[in-house]
Amino acid sequence: MASKCKTCGSELMAISIPAFAGKDGPVVITFSNLPILACPHGHEKKMVDTEFPLYVLQTVTKNVPMSSLQGFTRKQHVCNKCNTPLDQEHLETAHFEVRLSWKETQPFGASLDGPSAKCSSCMTLQLIKTTKVEREEIPNAIVNAFESIQLKR
Ligand SMILES: [Zn+2]
Ligand SMILES: [Zn+2]
Repeated sequence: MASKCKTCGSELMAISIPAFAGKDGPVVITFSNLPILACPHGHEKKMVDTEFPLYVLQTVTKNVPMSSLQGFTRKQHVCNKCNTPLDQEHLETAHFEVRLSWKETQPFGASLDGPSAKCSSCMTLQLIKTTKVEREEIPNAIVNAFESIQLKR
């Protein structure tokens, strides 16, 4: 089951990468202690599993608080807790931390910085979940982070 380096044939070792980040538009994703497989001679870095990026994307989007969309003709972002309309004129960049763990590897962290609003009623800080943020900027920021350390699937 162990993977081998394509260049030198050494068995890949389980290590973790302390910190690195990727960005797309206003969204920045920063990883800490990400578990990977690496050649002991530095030839290659590989994800722990082919399903790993999907797990990361799903866990991040599930755990970062995000606004809900309401309305038919005129859609509006509302608080995900109490449905109060959010003030989209004054967005701030908020920082959200997510803890992750993949199977028996060490737990690791991901943080997301992105355009957010605080509910005026219950004070919940939440990311404004536009289609662009959800379908493009979050997935692209994760891919860009992985590419920044030459992590292969
Ligand atoms: Zn190698
Ligand atoms: Zn609220």
